[in-house]
Amino acid sequence: MSTSSGTPESWISSFCSLLGHEYFAEVSEEFIEDDFNLTGLQTQVAMYKEALEMILDVEPEDDDDEEDEEEDEEEDVSGDARDEPGGRAAQAGERRHHSRIASDLSVIESSAEMLYGLIHQRFICSRAGIQQMSEKYELGHFGVCPRTNCNQARTLPVGLSDIPGEDTVKLFCPSCLDVYVPPNSRFQTVDGAFFGRTFGALFLLTFPEYDLTKSGTESITNLSRPSNPPGGADELPMINGVYARNVAPGLGPGKIYEPRIYGFRVSELARSGPRMQWLRDKPADIKALDEARLFTEDQGGDSEDDDESMIMNGRPSGRRRAPLNARSRQQQQQQRQIGNGSPMMVEANGGVESEL
Ligand SMILES: [Zn+2]
Repeated sequence: MSTSSGTPESWISSFCSLLGHEYFAEVSEEFIEDDFNLTGLQTQVAMYKEALEMILDVEPEDDDDEEDEEEDEEEDVSGDARDEPGGRAAQAGERRHHSRIASDLSVIESSAEMLYGLIHQRFICSRAGIQQMSEKYELGHFGVCPRTNCNQARTLPVGLSDIPGEDTVKLFCPSCLDVYVPPNSRFQTVDGAFFGRTFGALFLLTFPEYDLTKSGTESITNLSRPSNPPGGADELPMINGVYARNVAPGLGPGKIYEPRIYGFRVSELARSGPRMQWLRDKPADIKALDEARLFTEDQGGDSEDDDESMIMNGRPSGRRRAPLNARSRQQQQQQRQIGNGSPMMVEANGGVESEL
């Protein structure tokens, strides 16, 4: 499978170049060779050892019986190679795949695909993996959102489950915050668990500087418009620690489909009126979404609060931070009144978080 030309291609790169596997990143061998990254996968994949060897293009370590089979095979192969000069090198890579009987091989092959997918789910959340996926995102490899008002915003491949066999890969649009079935049916054989539920959200958290409004065709044709003002990225307005322009750019007034009959808008109160349009709504003043800042301002401001400094640094601050902080501050104040103002008491906050 991997050696149609004279230069043997690695199993990983041939897997990633298969039709329908365009979304996959090429997992680095270092990542696979680190046992820590494979924790728990032994029990999830049949013929784990063989599958792992196949992925890494390692010559299988056979016991005596299998060695005999291999020798037979090798004789056949070398016989063929003698017939056509120079064929030996080309056959060398092929040989390891022929070293097992065919039925065995197909089981190992499917196990290897499953194992690679599960490793891939972990890899794309690692530093190297997410970087590789960001390069693919930048080039629009994952396609664009089919929603008209998203103006072909680039999407990210995600899974709706981390367990294989439950659902196929979906495309998450950060512009309208919804998931879609990939447009081409060839992706409907790709397991969603191979991308997992973590990647999409982690990607946005890792790369807040991406312009989510940039369309896929734009990034392909390189007709990039100046996305940053002259002052640089720091000058862009921020909301809750992310760029305001990246807060669901495909939603809000003017970005919601308006049904019309003979030019007249259909009333929301009509029998077939457009209900639930608020689902795609966004406040006219985007600053209303800055809940953390508004909350602290509401509480009369607090110099102890580190949320504001986090926003200034451009690092994302959790939406739930404000109420939690306020609660923990209350707790702290109560503790101080009791006369036990240890800062370690903030840890009691963990219980509050788990309740939410
Ligand atoms: Zn969209």
